[in-house]
Amino acid sequence: MGFLPQALREAGIAAGRIRTVAFTHTHLDHIHGLVLPNGEDAFPRLSRLLVPRAELGLFRDVARLERFHERAEPFEPGQFLGADIEALAAPGHEAGHTCFRVTSAGETILIWGDTIHVPSLQFDRPELTWEFDTDQERARASRMHLMAFAADNGYCVAGAHLDSPGVGRLSRKEKGFRFEPL
Ligand SMILES: [Zn+2]
Repeated sequence: MGFLPQALREAGIAAGRIRTVAFTHTHLDHIHGLVLPNGEDAFPRLSRLLVPRAELGLFRDVARLERFHERAEPFEPGQFLGADIEALAAPGHEAGHTCFRVTSAGETILIWGDTIHVPSLQFDRPELTWEFDTDQERARASRMHLMAFAADNGYCVAGAHLDSPGVGRLSRKEKGFRFEPL
């Protein structure tokens, strides 16, 4: 929501080094970071812009990002975006909502996009959905599956709407899950 350049600086990542951007889905709070508030490209060396195939049309409806429309390259669930980055289907929140499973140095993190929006409720009660889930039944099923998948495999998770620092580990707790921030 406007703080992506600052967050990258804090993480010590130069925006000029980023060549690939992959969207988990095309909701506006997840895609407008391509453009800086002054209208310039946020990633001047961008060479690959990956968009879930099911949401190419949604992406191309966003007029402010028109100069990126033709560059968008569709990807599918199951596809590897790099040697250690696999796209996993997580539909419901949006038609093409996708997680990225990233493996590095023997550890795995699931970058799960908008699997959770309200951490104070949905870890304890993962069955809860809300109005911004386009298909609430599928969103619920995806969330229950992904949380169990991450907890049972000892994966870290990272989510766009998790509280700071946005990264942690999941374990099972009663009917829900416990989130331990890293
Ligand atoms: Zn969203």
